[in-house]
Amino acid sequence: MGMMELPDLLERVRQIGEEIIGPNAADVDGQGRFPTEGIEALKKEKLLSALVPVDLGGMEMTIDDLTKICTVLGKYCSSTAMIFAMHHIQLACVVRHGLSSPMLRTYLAELVEKQFLIASVTSEVGIGGDTRSSLCAVEVDGPRFVLNKDSTAISYGAHADDLVVTCRRNKDAASSDQVMVLLKKGDYTLEQVGSWDTLGMRGTCSPGFKLRSTGPVEQIIPGAYGDASSQTMVPFSHMLWGGLWLGISSAAVNKAAAFVRKAARRTPGQVPPMALRLAEVSNKLQSMRANVNDMANECAALQRSPDGNEAMLSMGFALRMNNLKIYCSSIMVEIVHDSMLVCGILAYKNDSEYSLGRQLRDAHSAALMVANDRIYAKNASLLLVHKDV
Ligand SMILES: Cc1cc2nc3c(=O)[nH]c(=O)nc-3n(C[C@H](O)[C@H](O)[C@H](O)COP(=O)(O)OP(=O)(O)OC[C@H]3O[C@@H](n4cnc5c(N)ncnc54)[C@H](O)[C@@H]3O)c2cc1C
Repeated sequence: MGMMELPDLLERVRQIGEEIIGPNAADVDGQGRFPTEGIEALKKEKLLSALVPVDLGGMEMTIDDLTKICTVLGKYCSSTAMIFAMHHIQLACVVRHGLSSPMLRTYLAELVEKQFLIASVTSEVGIGGDTRSSLCAVEVDGPRFVLNKDSTAISYGAHADDLVVTCRRNKDAASSDQVMVLLKKGDYTLEQVGSWDTLGMRGTCSPGFKLRSTGPVEQIIPGAYGDASSQTMVPFSHMLWGGLWLGISSAAVNKAAAFVRKAARRTPGQVPPMALRLAEVSNKLQSMRANVNDMANECAALQRSPDGNEAMLSMGFALRMNNLKIYCSSIMVEIVHDSMLVCGILAYKNDSEYSLGRQLRDAHSAALMVANDRIYAKNASLLLVHKDV
């Protein structure tokens, strides 16, 4: 990693969390508004280009280090952390699959300077959350393309600079024969459809949009999306989401622990009864952290290895990455819920220092972000042929 070393960078992100992101989190949630202050602060640290190679001006950060940043952010505001994660998932696709294109390299260098925010357009009306199928298709006519898509949800669509969109390769291609297209501000219009008045993750501002666009063909990311999905989109999504969900979970357990310590001070010499539940939830948190760290180490090792990209296409890797998502999204809900039981009514109240309502609501989004049953169904078919579980 170039520039600031990781421990210093994590400390800087923690400071931004304490001073800017955390203090605004309740308002972001209450108003269902974009967390402008937090994202601006991350831009000032040039963190929106963390993944860009050093020779293009970025930090060339690895996936395990980026996961750690998501964990810190998740402690302060789930929506800010999710926006940061989603931006980097799209950026990873451009960095890992677009460097052969001079135009995309120029784009990345410009992104370092201007800290563009990229949103994701994978889900589609009529398809739902199956990222490996598209109805819409990119239509190339000479040097330019036309691409229109009816999206079910685009997080921070109204606040993003650029978009990465999945679509069929052409209008005769099969639904799974997809490519990714980068749309820059000015290439596209978004017409909002419906609202985003949700249980949680309210600051992600993710209503549906009708997308209309046209741009130069050089913005079609080279190669097949099928490979980019296995090698980049899925591992980065599951890893960075897992990281920020770990942050949400640790913050909840930390609150529960502070509550128990306070109770213990009132009854010296006695272990308060709720300490038992704290011990139980800390056990779950440790398993979650171990799962995140284990997969982060595996991903980072694969990225360093010359055969890594090939290995990322393997069934075993796909199974493990899918299990990470399913496990973290499920255990997070238990961890936040259990932490609430430790603190009791003070966690249930919205105006107490031990309040966990926002985290509990945010946590419930995780199982829906590409439905866990869809992922279980994929693993079920992989397990029919994959032998070395
Ligand atoms: C906070 C948040 C932010 C989001 N941001 C974005 C974004 O920026 N860009 C974007 O493109 N999308 C985004 N999404 C959309 C999301 O990723 C999914 O695409 C969307 O939630 C899918 O729609 P759906 O819930 O109707 O599920 P669907 O995938 O349509 O599934 C509906 C139901 O059918 C079940 N089901 C479907 N297929 C199977 C199967 N094969 N086996 C078993 N069960 C199945 C599911 O479990 C579920 O119960 C966001 C979602 C959330 C919650």
